[in-house]
Amino acid sequence: MRISNTIIPTLRQTPAEAEIISHQLLLRAGLLRKSAAGIYSYLPLGYKVISKISQIVRDEMNKFGGQEVMLPIMQPAELWLETGRWHVYGDEMFRLKDRHQRDFCLGPTHEEIITDLVRGDVNSYKQLPLLLYQIQNKYRDERRPRFGLMRGREFIMKDLYSFDKDEEGLAASYEKMRQAYINVFQRCGLDFRAVEADSGAIGGSSTHEFMVMADSGEATIVYCQVCDYAANIEKAPCQPINSNEDHAEDKVLALVSTPDVHTIDQLVNFLQVPAFRTVKTLVYEVAYEGDNELIAVMVRGDRELNEVKLYNLLGCTSLELANPAIVKEKLGVEVGFIGPVGLKVKIYADHEIAQMSSMVVGGNKPDFHYINAIKDRDFSIHELADLRMAEGGEPCPKCGEPLSMAQGIEVGQIFKLGTKYSDALNCKFLDENGKEKPMIMGCYGIGVSRTMAAAIEQNYDEDGIKWPISIAPYQVIIIPVNVKDENTEKASLNIYQDLMKLGIEVIIDDRNERAGVKFKDADLIGYPIRVTIGPKTLANNNLEIKLRRTKEEFTVNIDEAIDWINTKINQELDLLQPVYPKD
Ligand code: ATP
Ligand code: MG
Repeated sequence: MRISNTIIPTLRQTPAEAEIISHQLLLRAGLLRKSAAGIYSYLPLGYKVISKISQIVRDEMNKFGGQEVMLPIMQPAELWLETGRWHVYGDEMFRLKDRHQRDFCLGPTHEEIITDLVRGDVNSYKQLPLLLYQIQNKYRDERRPRFGLMRGREFIMKDLYSFDKDEEGLAASYEKMRQAYINVFQRCGLDFRAVEADSGAIGGSSTHEFMVMADSGEATIVYCQVCDYAANIEKAPCQPINSNEDHAEDKVLALVSTPDVHTIDQLVNFLQVPAFRTVKTLVYEVAYEGDNELIAVMVRGDRELNEVKLYNLLGCTSLELANPAIVKEKLGVEVGFIGPVGLKVKIYADHEIAQMSSMVVGGNKPDFHYINAIKDRDFSIHELADLRMAEGGEPCPKCGEPLSMAQGIEVGQIFKLGTKYSDALNCKFLDENGKEKPMIMGCYGIGVSRTMAAAIEQNYDEDGIKWPISIAPYQVIIIPVNVKDENTEKASLNIYQDLMKLGIEVIIDDRNERAGVKFKDADLIGYPIRVTIGPKTLANNNLEIKLRRTKEEFTVNIDEAIDWINTKINQELDLLQPVYPKD
């Protein structure tokens, strides 16, 4: 490709709307432009990267038995009503009507569509297992679209669905996909981890998330540096850690004035007690099928409540911090001063609360707290459970060594679904004995556009992007330092054509611009190999090669340059190749 024939509108300034580095660089390098919040156009270079990631994904899905399909983006409401998700999905779903006032949505995911397809055309165990996937736009009206491609409202996803005749089959399909995902992210040149995750609203038993390690990641993971344990913090189980040694049963419960105290830090300062002797009491509004109630939850003041654990414990359909006005009306208490003493709702508490000999709790009265509150003497608890967030440093649930914490970007997730959708949609097959059974399903997603952003979060420096060679928009850029010099132009075009003949992805900066401008753009965009040709080096029949990632520079004889570049590319790609088992 000649740069004069394409559009690469690089920007010198960082656009103010872009908070994280990948978003900034995608805009600055001329890869992406915004149409509306969370909705983007990919420019030629941006779409090249998307295509390369998609091709790696496609390749690995095919290797593990996946068949590519293309399902409709626009989906009829009937199918979603059959599974009950038309109402459960809520505001995240983009809904529309056709001219006959029939309801449709723009697919946020495709379990309904694919299960409908399979129930119509597959009916024997002989046709299973079946692994079907697509790479397509998904639509989710996210509450907070942000960070560019990280959380879009229109984004590109690979979604694969597996159909098996039994649990063993599902386990095998799941394992295939786990391996395929490892290969995909390795080939994309990413530093990632597969972590245990919560299966949450989608149902099912087992699930892993694939996390690209980056400080800008929205997910927190805990992992063990000694064994292989790694989990999303939402999932990681916690042991109660006992920090209260003394026994205080003889201490008297007392209501003390705590003016201007609104946070645990302020409380700790005011009363001169350690945070682990204080307790936060939060009121939640919980919805069950057709039913609502308020409940209270207690965690130690120095801990954080894990809403996912609470949600799973309650088995509810939704969970939200209660509106302060409702709390005031129903419980007669200001949010911020809630405590368990005399509180008229069910109280759930983290295990650690049971280990505290006495505690400081809210006074259920503005500007007051109770000191010396003791469980079972001053208040009672409906249920104790593991309800807090794990923290760095606490023991690994597998081997007991201290856990580390890190931020991650979720680029993929794999789920064992079981029969949730095949039951709801009556997707059955006849087994070896002619008996009708529901298919056992799994679903497996990769955020293709998010992966592009995640790759930048891990591969950049002060000059711009440093693409891993496997997903770079072009592997090589040729920069003639002066296109007006005939020899330079001729030599550059020769190299350009020879590289293309070998199938190498190469772009030539044939603009009549200063060399400095071209170098700056090349660094910003992040082509892995930069070839510079000018009268000075040509005089010795040489050219210059600079590697973007390591900044190494080489002077190479023109006659050897093609071989040199070809070898380098293959070496770099080899480093990213997974080891495939022989079959
Ligand atoms: P998240 O918790 O980040 O919202 P999710 O659990 O809703 O993700 P899935 O439904 O499992 O995501 O979708 C599969 C993959 O699609 C995710 O692992 C992620 O990489 C990607 N993805 C999900 N939502 C978005 C989004 N709004 N923008 C870009 N990619 C997304
Ligand atoms: Mg989501």
